[in-house]
Amino acid sequence: MKEIYPELGYRNGELFFEEVPLKEVVQRVGTPVYVYSRKALEYWFNEFDLAFSEVPHTTCFAVKSNSNVHVLKVLKELGAGADTVSMGEIFRALTSGINPKKVVFAGVGKREEELHFALERGILMVNVESEGELYALEKVAQKLGRRAPLAVRVNPDVNPKTHPYISTGLKEAKFGVTFEKAFELYRYAKKSRWLEPVGIHFHIGSQITDISVFGEAARKVANFVRELHSEGIEVEYFDAGGGLGINYRPEEKIVPAKRLAEEIIPVVKELGCHLILEPGRRISGNAGVLITQVLYVKKRENKTFYIVDAGMNDIARPSLYGAYHHIVPLQEREGENVVADVVGPICETGDVIAKERELPSLKEGDYIAVLSAGAYGFTMASNYNSRPRPAEVMVEGENFKIVRQRETLSDLIAREF
Ligand SMILES: *Cc1c(COP(=O)(O)O)cnc(C)c1O
Repeated sequence: MKEIYPELGYRNGELFFEEVPLKEVVQRVGTPVYVYSRKALEYWFNEFDLAFSEVPHTTCFAVKSNSNVHVLKVLKELGAGADTVSMGEIFRALTSGINPKKVVFAGVGKREEELHFALERGILMVNVESEGELYALEKVAQKLGRRAPLAVRVNPDVNPKTHPYISTGLKEAKFGVTFEKAFELYRYAKKSRWLEPVGIHFHIGSQITDISVFGEAARKVANFVRELHSEGIEVEYFDAGGGLGINYRPEEKIVPAKRLAEEIIPVVKELGCHLILEPGRRISGNAGVLITQVLYVKKRENKTFYIVDAGMNDIARPSLYGAYHHIVPLQEREGENVVADVVGPICETGDVIAKERELPSLKEGDYIAVLSAGAYGFTMASNYNSRPRPAEVMVEGENFKIVRQRETLSDLIAREF
C-alpha cells in the first residue's frame, strides 16, 4: 500500500482504508459518508497512550471530537476513559460501556440538570470552570446526598500559538479561572461538606504543535498544586487536557506523542499525581475521512469549481476556521493537476472545503476523500439547508459496517409534529 496515513493509502490506484476499497463503501452507502478505520483508531490511541506508560494515567478520549458510540466502544476496549462537555456526551460514553470512574466533565456552562446527571452516574470528577458553578455543584450534591468530586479548571495563561477560536488557555478566554480564584475555590471546597476537591484541570487549546507550551503550562499548574499541598489541600488527579495537533498535510511530519510525554511526565512524577489526558483530534482525526462526489465542474475564465455533494453543514472546519483538509481522489489520477475551489451545495459563499487547491483533474461523478475528517467532522455536522446528515461507516479488516444510518427526509421533520 502507498500509505498516506496509517491504514489509509492506494493499492493499484484505488484508495483503501485497511483492506477495504473506499469505492465499495460508496457503492453500498452513497455519499457524503464519513468512514472510520478501527485499526487507525487503535494505532493512534496506542501511539498516545503508550507514550505515558511510565506514569499512572488515564487517557480520556475527548468525546466532542467524535461521539459515535462505535468509535467510543473501540477506544473503551483499549482502556480509554472519556472527556465530556455535556450530559449528552456522558450519556454516550456510559452507553458505550466506558467506566464512569474514567469520565471527566468540563465545560463553562453546565446546567444543574447536567451536574445532577454526572453526580448520579458517579463520574470521576467535574471540572469546575467558575465560582458560580462550584456553588451550583454544591447545591446539587447536597440534594443528592452525595459528595461531588471535582477539579478546578485553571487557566494557566499560556499562548499555544494555534487558531484563536481554539486557543483556550489565554487569560482573556472564557475557560477556567485564574490561579488566584482557583485558590479561593479550593479553600471553599475543602471546607464544604458536599464538595471534594480531588484534581486539578487545565486545557490550553487545540491543534497545538509547539510542544513546549504544554510543558510551560504543566509546570505553572504544578507549582500551584504545590501551593495547595502546603495548605493541606491534596489533589490526586493532574488533568493536563488535550490539544495535541495532527498533520493535516500528509507530507508534514506529525509530532510524536512521546514528545508531549517528555514535557509532562517529569512534572507529574515529581508531584506523584495520577495523570489524566484528554486527547480528541489526535486519536480520531486521522482515523477518518469524508467521501464526497463531484456533482458538477464549473469553469469560469481562470477559475475552476468542483461542486461536491458535501457542504459546510457536513464538514464545518474549513468554513469555520479556514482549516486545511487534504483532498485525494478515490481513483488515483495521472496527468496535469488543476487549481480549483472545492465547494459544497449550501447557499453561502463561505461554503468552501478547499480554496485554490492543486488537485488532479476531476470529472463529474468522480469521488474524492477529504482527509483527517475523523475529528470535529460529523460531530459538527448540522441540518442546515435541510440536508440530512451523512452516514457513518466503520472499516475493520476486509469488512465495513454502517455505524450511523444516513438521516432521512422524515428525520428532518420528526420533531415538528
Ligand atoms: C476540546 C477539548 C479537548 C480535546 O481537544 P483536542 O484538541 O481534540 O485534543 C480536551 N479537553 C477539553 C476540556 C476540551 O474542551
